[in-house]
Amino acid sequence: DNERASASASASPPHVLIFPLPLQGPVNCMLKLAEMFCLDGLQVTFLNTQYIQKCLLNCTNIESYFQRYPSFRFETLPDGLPEDSSRTANDIFKMLDSMEAVSVPIFEEMVTSGTYGPSSEKPITCIVADGIFCFAVDIAKRIGVPLLYFDTISPCGLWTYLCLPKLIEAGEFPFKGDDLDELIVNVPGMEGFLRRRDLPSFYRTKDLNDPTIQLVLNEDRHLPLAQGLIFNTFEDLEEPILSQMRKISPKIYPIGPLHTHLKTRLATETISNSIWKEDRSCIPWLDMQPIKSVLFVSIGSLAVMTMDQVLEIWYGLVNSGTRFLWVRRPGSVVGLEKEFEIPMDLSLATKERGYIVSWAPQEEVLSHPAIGGFLTHSGWNSTLESIVEGKPMICWPYFVDQQVNSRFVGEIWKLGLDMKDTCDRKIVERMVRELMESKKEEFLQRADQISNVSKASVSKGGCSYKYLDKLIEDIKLMTL
Ligand code: UDP
Repeated sequence: DNERASASASASPPHVLIFPLPLQGPVNCMLKLAEMFCLDGLQVTFLNTQYIQKCLLNCTNIESYFQRYPSFRFETLPDGLPEDSSRTANDIFKMLDSMEAVSVPIFEEMVTSGTYGPSSEKPITCIVADGIFCFAVDIAKRIGVPLLYFDTISPCGLWTYLCLPKLIEAGEFPFKGDDLDELIVNVPGMEGFLRRRDLPSFYRTKDLNDPTIQLVLNEDRHLPLAQGLIFNTFEDLEEPILSQMRKISPKIYPIGPLHTHLKTRLATETISNSIWKEDRSCIPWLDMQPIKSVLFVSIGSLAVMTMDQVLEIWYGLVNSGTRFLWVRRPGSVVGLEKEFEIPMDLSLATKERGYIVSWAPQEEVLSHPAIGGFLTHSGWNSTLESIVEGKPMICWPYFVDQQVNSRFVGEIWKLGLDMKDTCDRKIVERMVRELMESKKEEFLQRADQISNVSKASVSKGGCSYKYLDKLIEDIKLMTL
């Protein structure tokens, strides 16, 4: 090992190609990973779709990457969709199909015979790809470089994907009957608390040939074929699930929460990698609010809601009497055909104790002392950002891993309340009062505990800290 380590020190640094799923969450995580690789001397080529690259150019200071990291570069390819095409939750399949037809052949050419091929001047020596990119296994094998999958959803969510074949075999999926409260038996590590309704919402289909189900089964076949799996989590949070994961992959690297991990390794400010323009006017507004008095409300970058749901949540918030900061992303309300007239009582109360923005600097908002809680769609990045800042959550999951995450938040980590499958002003009001008033201290105490554990995990000597060092060391060894 010593010999290999000294050989690796003298060899030219590994050249890692990072290929994220072109959505805000994965791009966010993978850019942070890219920065951490660069800090450790690795060369990184970050492969974005032209659409994402344009969003980053518009909204972030992309020059910062080049100034900070001479060994970092962006590369782009088309996603095949018209530029003005929508790219939110309901369009993911359209995007994946289009990428399969247009982007994958370009990627393949790029790393086999093109700019980054084995006989090029700057051949890539390792690929880190989103776990959904099944095509990467064959391509990496063909050019003889190691492949690491980085699934940026939660390991607890991903584990329910990986157990799908077992659920099918045992006859638990598709569900027989409509009782969503029935307990699931065939997801090891989640017995006794995982109900049907806590599985990803697309498991509610009765059709085995459903495209999402087929996509998950395909991912299940490919994930174990990579040389390792990278996760945005920390061992103390998900140990029981990670030990299940170790059964399917030789090497796993839980190195999160990535956003904090990067912060602890950087001496300066982190670079924002938001793909929408942040409205910073909410920060001075927050500065004027009492400590822990404001509920932050956001459903992330993909989820959508109906106008009825907007109204139920709005009335719930207003009737609870709490202060709130609400992100209403343009395009996040479906079926809004005509200009909507806001009821007078809502608009008055909102002026008094609410603030609405189209996109917020979320990490900064969550770290603000005025924030006391988070009504979230339970996206994994949002969940981790909330955990790090010690902010309890009301969970209103939309899709993918979010149903699983919200169950863990409510039932296992005891960090908040799970509102899944309901959207009623009375329930919203009751939960907001519970989180922000009657059980406030209890929740804050618990959130504070887990926040401390999360920070310890990315500090020198912590488990995520050690796993990142191990990951980089393994990449160096694998690419010798
Ligand atoms: N986000 C943000 N501003 C907002 C709302 C969200 O910067 O107003 C960021 C948030 O900090 C998180 C990401 O967008 O990093 C959303 O990722 P998540 O996994 O929570 O949900 P998704 O958007 O993938 O459903």
